Formats: sequence, C-alpha cells, structure tokens
Amino acid sequence: MKIEFIQENENFAKFILKDSSITFANSWRRAMKSYVPTMAVDYIDVYLNTSFLYDEILAHRIGLIPLKTNLEKYNPQEKCVCNGEGCPNCQVSLRLNVEGPKVVYSGDFISEDPEIVPVFEDIPIVELYKDQQLMIEAVARLGTGKEHAKFQPVSLCSYKIIPKIEIERGKCNLCKRCIEVCPRDVFGVEDEDIKVERILDCSFCLECVKACDEKAITVLETNNFLFTIEGLGQLPIRVVMKKALEVLKEKAEEMNRILEAV
Ligand SMILES: [Zn+2]
Repeated sequence: MKIEFIQENENFAKFILKDSSITFANSWRRAMKSYVPTMAVDYIDVYLNTSFLYDEILAHRIGLIPLKTNLEKYNPQEKCVCNGEGCPNCQVSLRLNVEGPKVVYSGDFISEDPEIVPVFEDIPIVELYKDQQLMIEAVARLGTGKEHAKFQPVSLCSYKIIPKIEIERGKCNLCKRCIEVCPRDVFGVEDEDIKVERILDCSFCLECVKACDEKAITVLETNNFLFTIEGLGQLPIRVVMKKALEVLKEKAEEMNRILEAV
C-alpha cells in the first residue's frame, strides 16, 4: 500500500490510497468518522437563563460546537482513573456568563483549559435582548462519532475507486464521440490520438463506453482509491488518519486474542 497526497492542509486532505482493497478503504473511512475521539460538550448546568430559548435548545447548540482537542492530555471517561465519574483528567469545564443586549458566540465561553477552546469563535448561539442573561457551565469530555455526531472529527470523509480506462488503438476510429459525451471532461486529444487526461475526475458513468460504436473503450476498476477528507478542526487531519488506523489495529489485535483464547 502507498499514499500519495494531492492536496493537504490542516483541515483538508485529498490523497490516493494505492494498491489497497475496498474492504480496507471502507474500514478506514468508517474508523475516521466513528472511532476517533474528540472533545465536545456532554452536558450543561444552567444557573440562569432568561433568554428566549429553552435550556434544552441551548444545550443542543452548545454540544455541536467543535472544540480543539488534545488526545495526549485527556482520557476517555470509561478508561479514566475516576471510573467515569468525571475528573480533571477526563473532562473540561467551560463557563459562559453574559448579559444582553448582545449576540452570544462560541468565543464567549471561558475554558478552564486554554487548549480546549472552540475551534471557531464566531458560531452564534443565541441573541440576548436588554436585561436577558445567561449563566452556564458546560462540561466537555472525549467521545466518538459512533456515540453522537457531535464527536465526529470530520464533516466529510469519502473515497471513490479510481478507474482505469483502456482505449484499443486498433479499434478506435478517432470519432471523438467519447470526448463529446463525457460529462467530466476526462478525455483529451494529443498527437491526433484520444488520451485519458483527467482520470481522477471520472465518475464511472460509462457514457464513453456506450457512445463508442467501435467498442474500443473499456473502463476497469482498480485497487486505487481517491480519498477526500474535510476536518472540523478539533484535530489535524493527519492525526485523524493515524488515530483511525490505531483503532483498527487495536480491534484486529483484540480479535486475535479472542481467537487464541477460544
Ligand atoms: Zn476522570
């Protein structure tokens, strides 16, 4: 297996996974979405809420705010020394104390850990009018996307099979119908010959195969996959990729232990 990055920054990656299998590509995709832990607000204590919104709606909105996560510093609660009761090793409290008139933003939260803060400071939560007040303590912990979507580190994580398009030179009569019908503009002409120029754009629609009267084009599946991942900012994309692989490895090892014990 091999990885070739096409585009990459902190929150976005596009890469080709080469010589792999569809089972592995899909397991990895699912692990990135569902098994990589991130911080999110789990519950809130409302001391005062005179805004127009119910406590429950505020709780839901606050829960969905992505928080910067440090996986080295915090334990998942079920594996923590406190046995899941909540302690400084597994949870962080963020306080909100605001008075109207004002629009309350995610950036108004004051976290007890300067590392665990909202990724974006400008997510609106509620608009307070004159004399309205909010006093809230929000408690964040690690969780996974399997439990709730608010813990997902990626908003998009998908792959597609990269096809292989073969054009039989002997059969091709250069009618260029394939160029005309291709909706993704995959083909081009070079030295009076039809060439596959943008294979990564191919969507397997097979219009070129249908349009070719000489039956010169075949589109085949390969073991190469084009991944597109968009992060929400809690963790850098590379950390999400690595952590998901660690989780898959742990699961395989656990299965191995089970098999040996049987
Ligand atoms: Zn704990």
